[in-house]
Amino acid sequence: MKTSCELIRDLLPLYYDGICSDTTKKIVEEHLAECSECSLILEKMSVSLKSTNSVRQESEEKIFGGVAKKWKASLCKSFAKGILLASLCFILFYAGRYGLCQANFIAADNNVVDTTEYTLKDDANNIAVVLETTDGYLGGTIVSETDEKGNVYLSIVRPIIKEKNRDKDNLRVVYTVNIENKNAVYYGSPDNRELLWDKNTDLPQIAYEELQ
Ligand SMILES: [Zn+2]
Repeated sequence: MKTSCELIRDLLPLYYDGICSDTTKKIVEEHLAECSECSLILEKMSVSLKSTNSVRQESEEKIFGGVAKKWKASLCKSFAKGILLASLCFILFYAGRYGLCQANFIAADNNVVDTTEYTLKDDANNIAVVLETTDGYLGGTIVSETDEKGNVYLSIVRPIIKEKNRDKDNLRVVYTVNIENKNAVYYGSPDNRELLWDKNTDLPQIAYEELQ
């Protein structure tokens, strides 16, 4: 008696997965040998299962590949950000330290600078100014500016964070000013100045060597 196609088709998934008994397997195979319709169903079944599997695999690869790529990219980004931030901190630290401790741009006020002026022996074109800071910090740099009227403005400029003086002698700085065609020499700025020399001033005379 020929087993009905309906029964075989119910068994085909078990047969395909290889989870039926040997007897069932034999019955299915005998039927398939004679029945092209059921054979075709088995063939279709295997093709559709295979394609489902490959589609699933592809999409998994896509998802995980994408996640990995994104993760890698974000890791690279974070790393670059970290490097950038570290360099920025480094630059800011050194720029800040330089700006605060080394760059001279704060002029020392008249009241913390004592000056003594001399005319130089055998040198009618220059006067000598001895500048001394009295607030216990180092002198910094002396800057000299001349305006269009021939007025010379001297000032001691220092960093924001001044360096404490350790040796009192360092506070004394000698600066020579050329007075050819000059009107006057001041300490300070046009708004806050102290006269050091003008044509009517008689300064004590000194040899340059005596100032050292
Ligand atoms: Zn059949």
